[in-house]
Amino acid sequence: MGLVSAKEMLNKAVAGGYAVGHFNINNLEWTKAILQTAQELQSPVILGVSEGAAKYMCGYTTVASMVKAMLEELNITVPVALHLDHGTYEGAKKAIAAGFSSIQYDGGHAPIEENLQKTAEFVKICEEKGLSLEAEVGSIGGEEDGVIGAGELADPVQCKTIADLGITMLAAGIGNIHGKYPANWQGLNFEVLSQIHNACSGKPLVLHGGTGIPADMVKKAISLGVAKVNVNTECQLAFAAATRKYIEEGKDEQGKGYDPRKLLAPGFQAIKDTVKEKMELFGSIGKA
Ligand SMILES: [Zn+2]
Repeated sequence: MGLVSAKEMLNKAVAGGYAVGHFNINNLEWTKAILQTAQELQSPVILGVSEGAAKYMCGYTTVASMVKAMLEELNITVPVALHLDHGTYEGAKKAIAAGFSSIQYDGGHAPIEENLQKTAEFVKICEEKGLSLEAEVGSIGGEEDGVIGAGELADPVQCKTIADLGITMLAAGIGNIHGKYPANWQGLNFEVLSQIHNACSGKPLVLHGGTGIPADMVKKAISLGVAKVNVNTECQLAFAAATRKYIEEGKDEQGKGYDPRKLLAPGFQAIKDTVKEKMELFGSIGKA
């Protein structure tokens, strides 16, 4: 199966009371680890690509070509969406042209009028091409590709206005932030989440900054309409810790331990383990 839009998998998730994981990719190992885990566990999956990561991987066309080829050569049969994470107006157009199957146009930092107008433009484009579209209201706290926001709460009225444009899913701040959570974090605001869920008539909601949110809070958020959970930092931390351990144990200096296929293997496995743990938590296993 080639790339698919995230629309069907997310609408199914809302109906089934579970969420699909969005895992950011950074290179071939990351992509292979996530795809293989999804296939082994028969889970739908969303591969997220930030603009910074796309640039790092030589551009949208390189990323789309690699992912499409991997689906074929790894015999991946579960639904896979290739999604632009926090896309700018220009970046979203480029990702669409390169063959991404899902787009986030993040107008959360722009004035609401501009966000609405540009989101509406992408609704039209994505409908024509059969792509899924994620919109964002308000900014999600923390740092993502150098953009810093501060744990905001979205306005449910604005959420409804943007949801009614015909988007597929909506990212709205409910106290979540990107990166590691500070010790004095207040937790997710379920009252605001419920208001947004009701205002948007059950449209799939997206929880950004999935790393470090306690499991019970994630489950409660899913029960209140969150159908897509973005995970990035957690895979990075797991990869770094496993790679550090390998080198600190001196394994790169034993035999051919310097071979990148050996050197990167513990980190690869750590990503797989993290993805599996998240899919268990989100309830997406066996839902392909
Ligand atoms: Zn995000």
